[in-house]
Amino acid sequence: MSDCIFCRIAAGEIPSATIYEDENFRVILDLGPATKGHALILPKAHYADLTEIPEDLAAKAMVVAKKVVTFMKDALPCDGYNIVQNNGESAGQTVFHFHMHLIPRYKGDHAGVTWKPGKLTDEARDEILEKAKGLMQ
Ligand code: AMP
Ligand code: ZN
Repeated sequence: MSDCIFCRIAAGEIPSATIYEDENFRVILDLGPATKGHALILPKAHYADLTEIPEDLAAKAMVVAKKVVTFMKDALPCDGYNIVQNNGESAGQTVFHFHMHLIPRYKGDHAGVTWKPGKLTDEARDEILEKAKGLMQ
């Protein structure tokens, strides 16, 4: 996808601050970091989101995430980290090439990776359990 910015970054056509690279992935520093060290895992092949990426590559992405967050904890060092992966416009995805955000967290930082908890209603629980029985087991 020549018009996809993350394809071009992952291929090395556009320079990036690369902290890790292997045959399948490039890990770069986000240009608009939530906190110091915020990184993005980009597959080198184009998949719009998690539903498109093959299972084996999705699994490998998590192995890369483990490697990078271990580096973050040891070397930055951060106190914790969030792994965020947005899919679809309603979920905040702005670049439609699968990527994982690795966001180092520091005590007292004000990065906003939270939500206001609602309440699981009996109706929603029953509806979703029923659908899952049919489609996921
Ligand atoms: P999302 O909203 O999940 O699609 O995340 C897109 C992320 O990509 C944002 O955090 C942006 O700051 C980041 N971003 C966009 N363009 C670039 C770029 N050229 N280099 C590094 N990060 C980028
Ligand atoms: Zn792409």
